[in-house]
Amino acid sequence: MSKLKVIIAGAGLGGLCLAQILRRADVEVEIFESDSGPWDRPQGYRLHIDRDGVNALREVLPANLYRLFEATAMRPLPFTTIVDTTLKELRRIPSGGHDRTPRHWLADGGPEHINVNRATLRHILLTGLQDFCRFGARMLRYETDAEGVTAVFADGSTARGDILVGADGIRSAVRRQRLPEARIMDTGVRAIYGRIPIEKARHHLPEHVLADVFTVASDDRRLPRAGAGDFSDPSGRRF
Ligand SMILES: Cc1cc2nc3c(=O)[nH]c(=O)nc-3n(C[C@H](O)[C@H](O)[C@H](O)COP(=O)(O)OP(=O)(O)OC[C@H]3O[C@@H](n4cnc5c(N)ncnc54)[C@H](O)[C@@H]3O)c2cc1C
Repeated sequence: MSKLKVIIAGAGLGGLCLAQILRRADVEVEIFESDSGPWDRPQGYRLHIDRDGVNALREVLPANLYRLFEATAMRPLPFTTIVDTTLKELRRIPSGGHDRTPRHWLADGGPEHINVNRATLRHILLTGLQDFCRFGARMLRYETDAEGVTAVFADGSTARGDILVGADGIRSAVRRQRLPEARIMDTGVRAIYGRIPIEKARHHLPEHVLADVFTVASDDRRLPRAGAGDFSDPSGRRF
């Protein structure tokens, strides 16, 4: 019997996670990503991963890659701090586990919160999959028949598999075809992210605020204006 082959549209965090676990289960997998390379587009810089996410990565990743994930992550303090527009601290809210108790570590020794650089995590997830991941492959549509599915790409090429997974993000071409009635709703909310050198941040904010899971600056309308974060490695080394 021939092996099941899964084709995945999108080498973002979801598509790569799935590919990692499928490879470990000895399922044939091929990933198609519209970016021309893994560093083609800065996909944001900071990601908070909660207990469920950490546990999922522990299950999905081979042990050496999971260790790398932990080693490249920050263990934030388990709080979210609200500051005003002059950066004066207003409130510090525990952002602990599901019971909201602030803590760093789970009973099994795993981390409760982790902040990572999104591009670093993507790179870790891509490790070992390079030979199965085609960049510069924007999927346009798919066709199904009794034997499986054919994905059609913008350059005219095609790929064949038993199953197609749409992990191609918010503007998914797979979803557009499979579930045309599922629409994206614009909530009207806009976020502007930026980065400043850590020395400047330390000058303006108390040290503990910089190490929190999230720090949000808000004006009287209580609109979040900014986030802060990733400034130490698991050994406590600051950078
Ligand atoms: C500002 C911001 C902050 C966030 N912060 C957090 C956080 O702190 N913690 C958290 O857990 N989540 C956070 N999220 C949510 C998180 O980013 C998403 O849930 C996650 O990225 C979804 O992963 P994905 O793989 O489904 O999609 P994506 O990461 O969007 O990946 C989709 C991939 O598909 C590719 N693609 C798109 N179209 C095609 C096509 N037609 N053919 C081939 N490839 C295609 C894209 O180039 C991309 O690489 C945040 C989101 C935003 C916008």
